[in-house]
Amino acid sequence: SQLSDEDNINVVVRVRPLNNKERGLGGREALQFPGKGQVVCDAGPGQKPKVFSYNVVFEPAATQEDIVEYSGIKRLLEMAVEGFSCTAFCYGQTGSGKTHTLTGPPGLVEKGTSPHAPEHGLVVRSFVHLFRLIRDRPDSHFILKASFLEIYNEKVIDLLNPGSARKPLQVRWSKESRSFYVENLFTVDCEELDDLFAVLEEGMRNRAVGAHAMNANSSRSHTLLCVRVRRDLRADGSVTCSTHGKINFVDLAGSEMTKKTQSSGKTLEEANNINRSLMVLGYCIAQLSDGKKRGHIPYRDSKLTKLLADSLAGNGVTLMIACIAPTKANLSETINTLRYASRAKKI
Ligand code: ADP
Ligand code: MG
Repeated sequence: SQLSDEDNINVVVRVRPLNNKERGLGGREALQFPGKGQVVCDAGPGQKPKVFSYNVVFEPAATQEDIVEYSGIKRLLEMAVEGFSCTAFCYGQTGSGKTHTLTGPPGLVEKGTSPHAPEHGLVVRSFVHLFRLIRDRPDSHFILKASFLEIYNEKVIDLLNPGSARKPLQVRWSKESRSFYVENLFTVDCEELDDLFAVLEEGMRNRAVGAHAMNANSSRSHTLLCVRVRRDLRADGSVTCSTHGKINFVDLAGSEMTKKTQSSGKTLEEANNINRSLMVLGYCIAQLSDGKKRGHIPYRDSKLTKLLADSLAGNGVTLMIACIAPTKANLSETINTLRYASRAKKI
């Protein structure tokens, strides 16, 4: 169950450590990690434990650095530089560590903490690695453009242009590039590493402010940070060929929303929208990992999958990080997440 160079989807699991409150309650961990990419769930007295297998399992002691080194993200970044479309996303219930894994503890990015701080998540570390890759290719000239958006209730909000919360942006099909795009989405030219950090910082700040204004909780929206990488290969001083790659970083809405069936209109609509996009995403990925028999893939059924379609469909690579909590109290959500992750890839 190791990562292989041919796989177009990598599925890894990250288990967060117990928090202080859970430790105070005596821990009550419900999971075991026998190695070989396995997670064993204690299914209760008299029941057989459930065993799940993935490419890699990050146990609670894993560091942010470990995630970047062993999740396969570096391969996605290399492919983005070579002109492929790639996506890394975190899936899991609210409180399972999705945002921590992608961006680090709350406030870290918004406060502009040094990029070398050990708490920084996958996104900051990926930016650093991306610039390293670019510096290693003096034969090419690179143009990076970043955007950052949120999908809340099937409405696309530009996190770099908070005014868009009042007038959501439209997702359209481009015949020219044969992919979906967001009309009027703000994109930032990023010449320096600091420009990418500024995009992340600004978007995170606007996400927090916007969520507050809408009386919504960040667990009900998906965020998508996209870095487009245009590479112009040079030979004898002239451009010989250009490639257009990209990498998406996606922090998904809490997966527990999918079963909530509150009677009130707004919450139900939210839950249905989240349900649909997570279901469609899972379905698209399952089809993708199936390689050969590619039937109809329902990308058009949600805004999220429309925007990820080019990276899910073709020759890009997708990294799924399934985030789970270690406690008994979370076990049923944990099993749901592990099942979703298993469906994404039969190993
Ligand atoms: P989610 O985005 O899935 O709702 P968070 O990333 O906000 O979850 O994590 C919930 C809480 O747990 C946060 O306070 C976060 O800092 C903490 N946390 C999550 N994962 C870890 C980890 N690997 N190490 C330390 N703290 C973590
Ligand atoms: Mg979060």
